[in-house]
Amino acid sequence: METRRPLIAGNWKMYKTNPEAVESAGRLVELVADTDGVDIMIAPVFTALDPVSKVVRDTRVGLGAQNLYWEKEGAFTGEISADMLVSAGCRYVIIGHSERRQYFGETDETVNRKINAALAADLIPVFCIGETESERDSGKTFSVLDKQVKDGLNNRVVDELGTLVIAYEPVWAIGTGKTATSDQAQEAHKYIRSLISDSFGTALADTVRILYGGSVKPANVSELMGMADIDGALVGGASLEAESFSQIVKF
Ligand code: PEP
Repeated sequence: METRRPLIAGNWKMYKTNPEAVESAGRLVELVADTDGVDIMIAPVFTALDPVSKVVRDTRVGLGAQNLYWEKEGAFTGEISADMLVSAGCRYVIIGHSERRQYFGETDETVNRKINAALAADLIPVFCIGETESERDSGKTFSVLDKQVKDGLNNRVVDELGTLVIAYEPVWAIGTGKTATSDQAQEAHKYIRSLISDSFGTALADTVRILYGGSVKPANVSELMGMADIDGALVGGASLEAESFSQIVKF
């Protein structure tokens, strides 16, 4: 079995002005300078990417964006392309976050186009999936995950997916303080890995990193990270403070 290098990713959502983002990133860089064996990513708002990239360059902290648009350039007011994110210093991009699906009309089809654009630009896609509370309550968790994974990765071939990161984020656990139990998360992660195995083979299934997201905090991260198929965390609220995020990084 391959060893998967953990990734702890912070989604800053629509928080922090540029001075606040620069300050927070600088503090994080100091706090995690001595960490080893874990990849770290923060995803500030678009306008803060360039100044934060200067703070995190050549440090333990990688830079990600929270979204992209799949076209290279053109008359698409308000959108940002994969190449533009690369030019602002990004290595990662979060795609299909549930808040984008819920408030901004993202579908599995648009997510698929965005993943393709990210991969073509050598950005690491952090592909978010997860069921709502009512879907879980009605026993649909696995069928929802099945559709999101298959449609999100539709038309991709295994050779393109070496860097893919998947984030399992049960919608009912995001920003609610309700974390999935480590057994619930492990069950979903194991299922997602089996979907990757069925569609793309065991080699990719063994290496693909699957992050858990949903109210991850310093107090619950080590139990979650102890599960066999949990390879990291996508952290919202607790990533906004450098101190708490650095504790999560040091799970
Ligand atoms: C997220 O934004 O992806 C997230 C998981 O948020 P929180 O950690 O606040 O639940």
